[in-house]
Amino acid sequence: MRMVVLALVVLLVPATAPAQQGAADIGARLMQDGSITAALDAARADEARTIAEQVEICEVEAPPFKESKRGELYARKFRELGLQNVRIDKVGNVLGERPGTARRPHLVLAAHLDTVFPEGTNVKTTQEGTVIRGPGIGDDCRGLAVVLAVIRALKAGNVQTPGTITFVGNVGEEGLGDLRGVKYLFNEGLKGQVDRFVSIDGTGLGITHISVGSLRYRVTFKGPGGHSYGAFGLVNPIHALGRAMAAIGDFQVPNEPKTTFNVGRVGGGTSVNSIPFEAWMEVDMRSADQASLTSLDAKFHRAVDDAVAAENARWNSRALTADKQVVGNRPAGRAAATSPIVQAAASVTRALGFPVTMDEGSTDANYPQSLGIPAITIDGGGRGRSAHALDESFDTTNSWQGTQRALLLAIALAQP
Ligand SMILES: [Zn+2]
Repeated sequence: MRMVVLALVVLLVPATAPAQQGAADIGARLMQDGSITAALDAARADEARTIAEQVEICEVEAPPFKESKRGELYARKFRELGLQNVRIDKVGNVLGERPGTARRPHLVLAAHLDTVFPEGTNVKTTQEGTVIRGPGIGDDCRGLAVVLAVIRALKAGNVQTPGTITFVGNVGEEGLGDLRGVKYLFNEGLKGQVDRFVSIDGTGLGITHISVGSLRYRVTFKGPGGHSYGAFGLVNPIHALGRAMAAIGDFQVPNEPKTTFNVGRVGGGTSVNSIPFEAWMEVDMRSADQASLTSLDAKFHRAVDDAVAAENARWNSRALTADKQVVGNRPAGRAAATSPIVQAAASVTRALGFPVTMDEGSTDANYPQSLGIPAITIDGGGRGRSAHALDESFDTTNSWQGTQRALLLAIALAQP
């Protein structure tokens, strides 16, 4: 009987994603290797350079959908560090490889190039004591700099990993970028080739293993429009919008898993004495649980469709329509606390003597997790404030801890 069970287990493990062995104590085991401790020492000793590079990268702007200038700088740095097959793919992701003794397991270590700031934003940084200020300095110039520091430290310690690591600066993490960089990687560029994925995004030392999914819509109601007195009796897109919003406002959602909804922006109409021909709203829905998000999405569609039907019925018309455009779709996902990738992250953090903190968030790891690929996001060290604001800051105190942790995790996940 036991044999049968074992055989089934073997059959159920996908051949392309070998599970990590002994992940729970891998950190301590790796730290007995002299080349690895040499790499860790180099990472700490080199932190000033990592911070300087964080500033240098940050002073090259990378607005949404326009990451290419920063991408070219990043590709140059990959080449200078001796990565192989350095390339910029069709959507603007920058990739470079450090071959292991084998092709698999194949780890992707990434940070995102894009910021939330529009073109023309002043990206010059300032420094006061240990605090650096500048838009994007933490999110995600820190991650980009730590990726480079990991490559440099591996080289300094002459670390030979069994598996291969592909380092990536990816586009499109923020907002309407809608994870287009990682979606391209997993659907086309590296489809079927990635066993583990880690994004370095955020500051501190947290491990984000639960991915909050989100769905975003821009809904546009349309009607013929006309004079508010002369054409009275026409369907009214703003009235329909109001009906839909009232229904959305009454949605009941679970507390656990936390599931949320929000109408964040509305607009439309031309004047107080005109029946509008158009009205729109932007809606955001989130959950860490894909089933809850899917059920909320169904309620949202019903609310809009019912509002259209009610407004048309009110004026015995068929002239009112609504168009629901998806402007964001991040699937929910998770790497279980007991999964090898999370265990490995906790283990290396502990082995270095740092506190283990588990988080949830919405990051590039959402996408691979939704495909069943082991994926997490780790913080890059230091302390960040005011992410997504122009006065964003990064405190470099003990930021080397983030660099060391990323390094040891990269080595751990490049083991069979
Ligand atoms: Zn970010």
